Amino acid sequence: MTQVVLTDRLLRSWLRCKRRAWLDRHGDPEARRWTAHRSLALSDQLASFQSLLAQKPGHGEAACAAAAPGVVGLRLQGEGPAGLQLQAHPSLLERLPGPSRWGDHAYRPVLGRQGRNLTREHRLLLALWGRLLAEYQRAPVPQALVVAGSGRNLQRDTLSLSAGLQHQLDDALVRLAETMESPEPPPLVADRKKCVLCSWRGKCDQEAAAEGHLSEVSGIGGKRREMLLGLGITNLKELAAADPAWLGEALAVHGEQHRHNAAVLVAQARVQAQGRPERLEPEPPAAEGAGGLDPLPELRHCPGVLLYDIESDPDARDDFLHGFVIVPRGADGAWPAGPVPAQGSWRYQPLLALYDHGEALLWQRLRRLLGRYPAWPLLHYGETESIALLRLARRQGAGEAELTALRQRLVDVHARVRRHWRLPVNSYGLKAVASWLGFRWSQSGVDGARCLLWWRQWRRDGGGQRLQRIFTYNRDDNLATWAVVRWLLDGPG
Ligand code: SF4
Repeated sequence: MTQVVLTDRLLRSWLRCKRRAWLDRHGDPEARRWTAHRSLALSDQLASFQSLLAQKPGHGEAACAAAAPGVVGLRLQGEGPAGLQLQAHPSLLERLPGPSRWGDHAYRPVLGRQGRNLTREHRLLLALWGRLLAEYQRAPVPQALVVAGSGRNLQRDTLSLSAGLQHQLDDALVRLAETMESPEPPPLVADRKKCVLCSWRGKCDQEAAAEGHLSEVSGIGGKRREMLLGLGITNLKELAAADPAWLGEALAVHGEQHRHNAAVLVAQARVQAQGRPERLEPEPPAAEGAGGLDPLPELRHCPGVLLYDIESDPDARDDFLHGFVIVPRGADGAWPAGPVPAQGSWRYQPLLALYDHGEALLWQRLRRLLGRYPAWPLLHYGETESIALLRLARRQGAGEAELTALRQRLVDVHARVRRHWRLPVNSYGLKAVASWLGFRWSQSGVDGARCLLWWRQWRRDGGGQRLQRIFTYNRDDNLATWAVVRWLLDGPG
């Protein structure tokens, strides 16, 4: 194998997952899927850079020579440890006073940070940029800049590019080169939560399912997988066949809580291996309305239900869309048949939360809508909606009686599924559960990140089609919730 040029993008991938870097270089590009996460990260970074610089950055070497305050598009090259070939494209360079080959100004690299903390990935990437930039400008780069947020909320942190950090970089580059030279891809990452953001997810999901990877068992993350591997349990089938009492005893050395979890994990693996759902004996009611054998007692006598789903921008802590589907009970008292109503036959009501309109107006509109259907439960999947709605109501001055009434109307379908059923799914999230029931989203390949990207694009540039797509995605999530509700009402067919 010829020596691979190690780029900053490969390093970034490798720091997230070794397999990802290997696939980036050697994988079949056809198996790669576009994800919205990178576009979201780039749009965040662009907003930070625009807030940092008073004018548009210049481009390449000419801009450096002309002392532009900000420079993009510079390709840096150099040699790393053991003669490794390195290449990088820093996102942005910021001008500073100080001598360099261009005269009395030099540059330092700038990175837009996603998330709240500076990570090893940020540090090593900046160390690489700093090292190659120092060679290029023939002047040291003692510090880098990390920015996050935008406008008045722009945060700036300087990072010292110390000798210790450069040692860590050398070590990472040598190991990255070893990964790239391997003829086989490295194993799936231990903690598969990271896979949500990765463009190789489809390929890796298929492989994980085919080999019965332990991460396929709902409830097993990186740490639990390590514990099971330590006991010689290497895949889903072996876990399904394990004796829960023995496993509980063996896992208890890591903490008493694992003793009980062992039986749950074995049962989950068994259900997944057999592909058949299993009804659970619900524990005595913990909360009013949640007990008994009926998973949805609230639906026995109500005239209809409101399906409810929120779309959010988690970084901005902005719940930008509250979407409802209004499902009336039939004249004969029966719930509509089939998991999905004919397109458009139920009313979909989106309520957009626009900054300019203020939260008070949103709360008024929500109250008006809920007031039109006073005895109709609000069905949602996961706790996000109930937390967000109750917090919003509290902020807007709702009294205790109103909050209690609201709390009683909110029914978390996810919690009811977990309480009453063990399902042959690798996750109890809405996408996995509704898909297992045969529900199909009308827009393929769309997820929350894609929806968020449309939202940000719509806010910046407008476009009725984008908004329509957001509404369709939100409506579909509500209909997926209904598919789960129907199954809970009917039981396995
Ligand atoms: S999907 Fe997961 S395991 Fe596969 S390359 Fe991406 S991060 Fe690694």
